Amino acid sequence: MIFEHHPSPSRRGIRSAFLIVLALGAVLAATAMVGVFGEQLSAAWPQGTPPQGAPGQGSPGSAGSDGGRTTGDATVFDDEVAAVANLDPELRDALQRAATDAAGEDLVFLVNSGWRSAEYQDELLRDAVVEYGSEAEAARWVATADTSPHVQGDAVDLGPFDATYWLSQHGAAYGLCQIYANESWHFELRPEAVEDGCPDLYADPTEDPRMQR
Ligand SMILES: [Zn+2]
Repeated sequence: MIFEHHPSPSRRGIRSAFLIVLALGAVLAATAMVGVFGEQLSAAWPQGTPPQGAPGQGSPGSAGSDGGRTTGDATVFDDEVAAVANLDPELRDALQRAATDAAGEDLVFLVNSGWRSAEYQDELLRDAVVEYGSEAEAARWVATADTSPHVQGDAVDLGPFDATYWLSQHGAAYGLCQIYANESWHFELRPEAVEDGCPDLYADPTEDPRMQR
């Protein structure tokens, strides 16, 4: 029971231990915050660098050099972005008219993907085969460069959900139609839809005769 005769060193010891625990706690908290932050950063830029076509990487007149890669923050009015600039002008016009009307309901039409170069489409298809494990399954989601309406500038993938939902309700009046049941974000121009309404959906692209080569 020696320590009972030396209460102050013992208390100092307790105080020191307490301070060490506090310091450790602070270090742990800081580490956790860096971890969370790092994760958010790597989620935003999975490769650690901004994707090709990020704002500021292009220059006027370079439309096409990024192959139509987008960062998802371009609207249907951003025709300095190749993905938008190289769309069929009638499709782009219809999108801009619809977006103008939807803006009254505080909706913004973002272009997640529009025109794509054949090289970029090939890259997406290769990625999809890896992701889905087979060419057959990948074909349900990604067309070849020869068949994709995106490469022709005839298709656009829009977001966010409230914008695509608005278009699913009102798009036909502008000739803008969803084509595939499994792609609620993919729209193409069907001018006859203004009179007749949009055609029936294909379950997925493999049912689309255009995808047969
Ligand atoms: Zn699409």
